[in-house]
Amino acid sequence: MSKKNIKHSWAEPYKIKMVEPIKMTTREFREKAAKEAGYNTFLLKSEDVYIDLLTDSGTNAMSDYQWAGLMLGDEAYAGSRNFYYLWDNVKKYYGMPYFVPTHQGRAAEHMISKIMIKPGDYIPGNMYFTTTRVHQELAGGTFVDVIIDEAHDAQNEHPFKGNIDPQKLEDLIKKVGPEKIPYVSMAGPVNMAGGQPFSMENLKTIYKLTQKYGVKLWFDATRATENAYFIQQKEKGYSNKTVAQILKEICSYFDGIWVSAKKDLLVNIGGFLATRNKKVYEEARNMVVIYEGLHSYGGLAGRDMEAMARGIEEMVKPENISMRVRQVEYCGVQLEKYNIPLVKPYGGHAIFLDAKRFLQHMKQDLFPAQSLAAEIYIDSGVRGMERGLVSSGRDPKTGKQRYPKLELVRLTFPRRVYTQSHIDVMVESIAEVYEHRKKIKGLKMVYEPKYLRFFQARFVKL
Ligand SMILES: *Cc1c(COP(=O)(O)O)cnc(C)c1O
Repeated sequence: MSKKNIKHSWAEPYKIKMVEPIKMTTREFREKAAKEAGYNTFLLKSEDVYIDLLTDSGTNAMSDYQWAGLMLGDEAYAGSRNFYYLWDNVKKYYGMPYFVPTHQGRAAEHMISKIMIKPGDYIPGNMYFTTTRVHQELAGGTFVDVIIDEAHDAQNEHPFKGNIDPQKLEDLIKKVGPEKIPYVSMAGPVNMAGGQPFSMENLKTIYKLTQKYGVKLWFDATRATENAYFIQQKEKGYSNKTVAQILKEICSYFDGIWVSAKKDLLVNIGGFLATRNKKVYEEARNMVVIYEGLHSYGGLAGRDMEAMARGIEEMVKPENISMRVRQVEYCGVQLEKYNIPLVKPYGGHAIFLDAKRFLQHMKQDLFPAQSLAAEIYIDSGVRGMERGLVSSGRDPKTGKQRYPKLELVRLTFPRRVYTQSHIDVMVESIAEVYEHRKKIKGLKMVYEPKYLRFFQARFVKL
């Protein structure tokens, strides 16, 4: 049999045991729903959405192994067995000896920011993440973006656009002094850059640099498994290592990590902080009882911790992580057949439409990405979200809008939820909107909350 002319497709590495029906709606219905939601996809009712690509956060489909684990929830107030099992897996897969569970990622960000940051400090990071930065700012710190320049260019195909620029970091350390930098805040893949990973080589360089100046290095490991997969696929010397081995190697360079379990861990709720730093651990273990719950449940039910522990085992399985990233890639390849402008390379968890090029006729003040997300919903009931001027918000000191270079619509893939045919339908809808793009006029903001405005802001059509 000649292999030459045969296409080798891949398929979802699971079969469907239970289904959740989704509602089909008319364009007229969706026009009304979008208007009522103030053209903010976060304010739509989920039941009015056909294919929901708003976020991959907590929207994962759990496996039968995880669901079975829920029945083993030990709901004791203190010391539940699920907590110890989860702790064991955090040690085994992330290599961190100390662990504090939290109800989700931002609770861990709150704690680490409060513990480490003093007013007047600077926290360098590879592009900001919304909740990460807001907690750093609330603790009195100033976030400084030290990501490589390539990350701000949607068309640059650098394979590791999540890398930190060592020069930018060293310049900052010299300028403000290492004592003003409680830690470097690294994330990967970098969501706001389009789901772009950092390389192991870059991590090693940044590690050496922080060691040289005695600055700590912390990791937002929320999507670390995807970053490990990209390293395996793209970086020299890693193709023979497993994703689990690479994940552990990544974590070995950090003093500690915080994680939103709602992403990599294939669950619907959860988070944690883990570290090799005993002092930070002791403070976090004490602080968690004020904000979350006892240190052995951190705002979670025992069953949630069991699902997380099992999710860790599943997230690094080759078939799961490769299907995860390849589904996103499939979507990107299909969209490019229609010449739709995208951020390249494709991200680990999402495809990002480049709204600046998609809606070339529109000024950034009219919120091109917000407008595009609304139009896609109106066309087909597909829900994405804005990552541009609205998400970027205002400078807390000057009150001025922070105009980001990237103006994107994010189409994020829940893990194990949709099939290839859902993606085909979605791609066709976006192609349709692209064809009629000149008719899109933009939006005006009529309601603006003070924090994380993208969640609740309201708009009217121009
Ligand atoms: C989701 C996310 C967070 C925040 O976690 P929540 O569970 O939503 O509170 C922090 N960092 C990154 C990179 C994330 O993706």
